[in-house]
Amino acid sequence: MRTRIIAGNWKMFKTIAEASEFARQLRSEENVPSVEKVVCAPFTALPALAELFKGTPYVLGAQNMHYEEKGAFTGEISPLMLKELGVTYVIIGHSERRQYFNETDDTVNKKVLAALNHGLKPIVCVGESLQQHEAGQTEEVVRKQTEAALASVSADNLVDVVLAYEPIWAIGTGKSSTAEDANQTIAYIRGVIADQYGKEAAEAIRIQYGGSVKPENIESFLAQSDIDGALVGGASLAADSYLKLVAGAAAK
Ligand code: PGA
Repeated sequence: MRTRIIAGNWKMFKTIAEASEFARQLRSEENVPSVEKVVCAPFTALPALAELFKGTPYVLGAQNMHYEEKGAFTGEISPLMLKELGVTYVIIGHSERRQYFNETDDTVNKKVLAALNHGLKPIVCVGESLQQHEAGQTEEVVRKQTEAALASVSADNLVDVVLAYEPIWAIGTGKSSTAEDANQTIAYIRGVIADQYGKEAAEAIRIQYGGSVKPENIESFLAQSDIDGALVGGASLAADSYLKLVAGAAAK
């Protein structure tokens, strides 16, 4: 059985004060379902959240990192620095980073390997653009991105990887993929993993859907055979909405 995983991706939202308020609201909630609950916050909010999440079921994530441990890389944050803060997950290769910050399949791969080497769990994003979607290239694109991201990742390390299928045209647009279409592509990605690592590994790896997921549609995605959770931007920003996503992910 794959443990379901909800990860909030706050992007460039929330000051330390706002993040702390969110964490306090989560902490006041009782009987939270046993899906894995991750919050990927901006770097500046991570120390405060690490404190506030201690002894709670909430797990801390970052949204990016450099692949080197240290060096002359002005403005960058290294895996060692994230580890020191008590970060568990790190989003790698989000489409906004590929689009605005020149992330390539090669840097994504280097970051995935570095994260795993430092005991961080990468949430690796793949997904096609609207143009690629309309040209019928979805499978080709996600295969290439998945294979490139996981190049040289050992089967032993694969258990710590979470994949997130995020069609770019569905991110922040209110236009989510249908649950059936998302499931079909995610099942295809599972097949890509099976080709590389075998059926058992493919059955074990968790693959999230992301793109305009909200409390109203989360259950339809999680009802699908191959979708193990969601990576959520906008709808993860308010604590009550985040908790509804968690509850929706736990529903049968
Ligand atoms: P969204 O973002 O939920 O706001 O569409 C998802 C993401 O970018 O991870």
